Amino acid sequence: MKLSVIGSGYVGTTIAACFAELGHDAVNVDIDEAVVNSINDGRAPIHEPGLEALLEKHGGKSLTATTDYDDLLETDITFLALPTPSKEDGSIDTSIIEAAAETLGDTLREKAGDHVAVTKSTVIPTTTTETLAPILADTSGKQLGEDLHVAMNPEFLREGTAVEDFQNPDKVVFGSDSETAINTLQEIFEPLTKASNATVVETGVEEAEMIKYANNAFLASKVSLINDIGNICKEFGVDAYEVADAIGLDNRIGERFLRSGLGWGGSCFGKDTNAIIHAAKETGYEPAMLDAAVAVNDRQPERLLSLLDDHIDVESERVAVLGLAFKPGTDDVRDSRAIPVINGLQERGVNVAAYDPVAAENMRTHFPDIEYTDAPQDALAGASACVVCTDWDEFAVLDEEFDAMETRVVVDGRRIIERRDGLTYEGLTW
Ligand code: NAD
Repeated sequence: MKLSVIGSGYVGTTIAACFAELGHDAVNVDIDEAVVNSINDGRAPIHEPGLEALLEKHGGKSLTATTDYDDLLETDITFLALPTPSKEDGSIDTSIIEAAAETLGDTLREKAGDHVAVTKSTVIPTTTTETLAPILADTSGKQLGEDLHVAMNPEFLREGTAVEDFQNPDKVVFGSDSETAINTLQEIFEPLTKASNATVVETGVEEAEMIKYANNAFLASKVSLINDIGNICKEFGVDAYEVADAIGLDNRIGERFLRSGLGWGGSCFGKDTNAIIHAAKETGYEPAMLDAAVAVNDRQPERLLSLLDDHIDVESERVAVLGLAFKPGTDDVRDSRAIPVINGLQERGVNVAAYDPVAAENMRTHFPDIEYTDAPQDALAGASACVVCTDWDEFAVLDEEFDAMETRVVVDGRRIIERRDGLTYEGLTW
């Protein structure tokens, strides 16, 4: 099948490459020429394990990228994988996806026959039917339910394991009341759903929109709950990881997302939890649990810094920050917990020396003036303390590198460094 994906970011590039791998012809549309050139040259525009290999295989062949919306006229279905960021007040900003829907509609004016438009972005319930569908119908001149069909197909991939997640999903959700849209989605996903054990959920558009928020809100709350428990464990001198391992044996709890630490970051959990909280409050409902999940997450970085303060006055000292990405396996620093940690260090008058294997360039936009090093030992050399913000595997094997520190104080937000002689080690929740 011929399909198009508007937006070639973490989601758009990954799904287009995976669709090409499933045997489809995919067109990635993006406004960023560098991204488009990279895909056509068979190079991944983002750091994502497995993506480079898929682009090498399909880029410029069954997967092409373009800045020209007209190139999607040859396709049967378009996925809208555009950013849906937060506004200042936490509510969702749909201006980018609305603008893309308008351009898609204008473009479809030239197309005879049916077209299916699918919301891939995370959007608040009713956005697809009440905002995007009318824009598409007005600008394309097509009739909803006749030659224009809309659907919502939320995405559950995680950065760092995006390709693997897309290819081995737990579930695939199709939200639509259009038979044409559902049939088209079934056809596209058939090679994947046949090969995997994924459950296909067919539901309404609004339910599909809410499933994505419920998924993220639940996981974010699980992380905050284990962080709350971890903080209590720390106060009692209890090993929070032993506690987590034991409660994870209970099937009702499950073993995943029980690593207490610095909290969640990234482009989704914070933005999506805040967006659904804001939308709920607009209806008059106060989502107390979700408010609390955000509050716990917000205070973990300051807890880490207060543990540092307990050991050393860092004013005018060099402090190594190990890990800048919001999680290992990605170069994405959006809402990374390293950001409030570095802000807190700067408020304390610290000279920050930061290291991350892949995310330093992206962090430069937030902190152009701190020192970025090419290796962890360079950040540690002469430092009076070290804080760990991301659990990259390479930090687990650091050993004599700590010897080059001025004072060997390590405050670990991710339980990746082992306690050892000669190191003043403080774990955030253990
Ligand atoms: P992103 O910021 O990585 O990528 C968005 C892309 O859209 C960029 O390349 C940008 O140049 C392009 N773009 C912006 N305006 C455009 C326009 N008018 N026409 C064409 N291209 C345009 O975003 P992302 O992380 O891929 O997220 C996209 C959506 O998917 C969001 O709603 C997000 O919440 C959701 N989502 C993200 C993830 C994730 O892990 N990143 C997972 C699931 C769902």
